[in-house]
Amino acid sequence: MKALVYNGSRDVSVKEVPDARLERPTDALVRITTTNICGSDLHMYEGRTDLEPGKILGHENLGVVTEVGSGVERIQVGDRVCLPFNIGCGFCRNCESGMPSYCLTANPDPDMAGAAYGFAGMGPFSGGQAEYLRVPFADFNCLRLPEDAEEKEDDYVMVADIFPTGWHATRLAGLKPGESCVVYGAGPVGLMAAYSALLQGASQVMVVDRHPDRLRLVERMGAIPIDDSKGDPVEQVLNLTDGRRADCGCECVGYQAHDHLGTEHPEMTMNDLVQSVKFTGGIGVVGIFLPSDPGAPDEMSRNGRLPFEMGTFWFQGQRIGTGQAPVKVYNRQLRDMIHRDRAKPSFIVSHDLPLDQAPEAYEHFDNREDGWTKVVLKP
Ligand code: NAD
Ligand code: ZN
Repeated sequence: MKALVYNGSRDVSVKEVPDARLERPTDALVRITTTNICGSDLHMYEGRTDLEPGKILGHENLGVVTEVGSGVERIQVGDRVCLPFNIGCGFCRNCESGMPSYCLTANPDPDMAGAAYGFAGMGPFSGGQAEYLRVPFADFNCLRLPEDAEEKEDDYVMVADIFPTGWHATRLAGLKPGESCVVYGAGPVGLMAAYSALLQGASQVMVVDRHPDRLRLVERMGAIPIDDSKGDPVEQVLNLTDGRRADCGCECVGYQAHDHLGTEHPEMTMNDLVQSVKFTGGIGVVGIFLPSDPGAPDEMSRNGRLPFEMGTFWFQGQRIGTGQAPVKVYNRQLRDMIHRDRAKPSFIVSHDLPLDQAPEAYEHFDNREDGWTKVVLKP
């Protein structure tokens, strides 16, 4: 089959690889019809992880079931399914307590909790930027889609990761209807966090970034764009809230945060959030911070130790929630919102491309070139 393979830093190509196949009775095989490039793929693409060359990338996957193992009971051949990027077993302590993103058994590494397709450090699982994907614990990990699945494929595929991740950011932040929320980052994840906040009845949603195309999408959805190349974002939040700050905030950038001139400051968004959110307010951090980053600008950040203003954070009585989004906690509800026309997350899609064009797409998306907001691949 054809697949997008990681060869090394900023080097990916579409190659012929051995076909994905069932390996356990609880597996399903899915023919991938839509698979996205995610900001998380860029950590590996940029060579900031120890991902082994030859790995197939892709964790935002949707497709049609073509084969099921003898132990699969609920899912059937022909089902159109959306696959949460986290792979859970469904029966370990963490899965049972609603945290399948920290599954204790799917990842064969006993020191790790959590598994995912096509990721560094998240188990041996191949990604879905390919013609076929092996789905472990298929009964647990496949979300069946309704009859409008084909027509709304670019909406439903967002349920594999970024829509639930954006939603999760607002839940970690503790957003309540009528409150205000500031989001750092207008990439696909930040846009989905802002969209989720609006869907949940926030009175004011502000989004910080500097890319005009991404800020235009912020405005189009009814949120307030904050361009940090035009001035300090914290000052702008204070101005927009009559000095009261936002009730809560979401971090949707991660350790690759930089100033608008391009210098990397991995600690920047967290410290700006502490200053932009009210005393006692909540902060949801879904942007990824890794324990080590060989590409980081200084020794401290290379070891994952960022200069976070703990004193100010504590003094202000704020709360913080972090980590990988437990997609399964939200994906049925978000699927149903799409089905009933209450949500249309595909408004962020900028490119629908064949798999063959993935290498060029990675390059454009990694450069955050104007107009390259979200790439959807069609193997
Ligand atoms: P992206 O790289 O496309 O978007 C990040 C955006 O942040 C860019 O538009 C960039 O201009 C902006 N930015 C950079 N520095 C900034 C700053 N100082 N202030 C404000 N904005 C700044 O990526 P994405 O796909 O939107 O993903 C965002 C983060 O979320 C990544 O770290 C990704 O790995 C992570 N992620 C986490 C989960 C999870 O489960 N927690 C899931 C998916 C993605
Ligand atoms: Zn993703």
